[in-house]
Amino acid sequence: MNLNNASNDQLRQWEQQLSAEYDAIVAQKLSLDLTRGKPSSEQLSLSDELDGILKGNYKSLDGTDTRNYGGLDGLPEARELGAHIFGVKPAEVLAQGNSSLTLMFQCLLTAVEFGFTSAEGAWSKAGRMKFICPVPGYDRHFTLCEQLNIDMIPVAMNANGPDMDQVEALVQADSSIKGIWCVPKYSNPTGVIYSDDVVERIAKLGKIAGSGFRVFWDNAYAVHDLGAALPLANIMEFCRAHGTEDSVLQFASTSKITHAGAGVAFVAMSEANLKGFRKFLNAQSIGPDKVNQLRHMRLLPDIDALNQHMKKHASILQPRFDAVLKALDEAFTGTDLGTWEKPAGGYFVAFDTRPNCAKEVVRLAAEAGVKLTPAGATFPYGKDPQDCNIRIAPSVPTVQEVIGAMEVFVTCVKLVAVRQQLA
Ligand code: PMP
Repeated sequence: MNLNNASNDQLRQWEQQLSAEYDAIVAQKLSLDLTRGKPSSEQLSLSDELDGILKGNYKSLDGTDTRNYGGLDGLPEARELGAHIFGVKPAEVLAQGNSSLTLMFQCLLTAVEFGFTSAEGAWSKAGRMKFICPVPGYDRHFTLCEQLNIDMIPVAMNANGPDMDQVEALVQADSSIKGIWCVPKYSNPTGVIYSDDVVERIAKLGKIAGSGFRVFWDNAYAVHDLGAALPLANIMEFCRAHGTEDSVLQFASTSKITHAGAGVAFVAMSEANLKGFRKFLNAQSIGPDKVNQLRHMRLLPDIDALNQHMKKHASILQPRFDAVLKALDEAFTGTDLGTWEKPAGGYFVAFDTRPNCAKEVVRLAAEAGVKLTPAGATFPYGKDPQDCNIRIAPSVPTVQEVIGAMEVFVTCVKLVAVRQQLA
């Protein structure tokens, strides 16, 4: 199907055919959901051993009774796991509660109100604050900015990461730009991995940005490969080479490794940043849930155990991703109806329709019983200027349900595009 070259007669014929297909789907009264970027119950069950795993032994490797207060930095063995995920030293990592999003919020708040390295450096002291948001991106990053009154500036995401020419030009020109959101591996939602060159250029932003600039490096999918583990350049090594260690804050968690709502989150940063952040944390808590950290370390005591565990996730997720990619490939390869990346990990596939179609596709799919993430959710303020991006999250439905939902999806994409071309 190629709409740009089609005659009006051809378009009308397609419209009739697709409308009939769509009506037949509506008549099936489906109820399918591709909205949620969360693990399925089958995946969660991979970690059910967590429950009861301590068998009354609450001592960590260094003899700490994890039931008690204290240990603000987290258990040493948990910090080591975090250090492995980030490729940094355990001393640069804190292991905390269940949510990396909470750590991101706490870091943002520290930067806005208190400053990481000096109170005079608190962003709010210098007036308006802005963040660069590669788009499409993760809606909760945008929510954090809105909550703290940080203006968002979208920049394009390419197949190898954010458009760095655009990012560098913005950062150079405007000292009120205080940071950038990055999901560097299997980005949410496009699934791309940042290239080495992009990672190095991001590591160098601290040199050209105004003071206090921080990269929020949200490595939520660091070990979430579907096949062979694909590498991501180590941003902190580049930072060390360029003298910008203080400009990067790294985040990760076990949310999509063990139990999503009951895991362990990690943050990594330079010694200088840690000083400021510990002060903030210390005011807030006497220490994190070390019992849960210990449970995680018993379940995943070393890197081999982690890798084996992630392979089990991959074998559950892979057929779902295959179903999405096969449907897109069969329906749209060689057409002018849409574009997408083929992620080798993470939780999402992002599809770009022709301009001004996404909202209508989501609406038609919903009427046919297939829920999709609202169009626009992957952009700051919920506004996709091209109205073209749709995030597909196939982890929760069964493979058969994903196949069924994708049939609806491709029919809706075609139908909306043809109708628009006819209008
Ligand atoms: N970052 C990204 C990019 C995510 O996709 C998600 C979950 N959808 C999170 C963070 C949330 O992480 P956590 O559960 O550790 O708060």
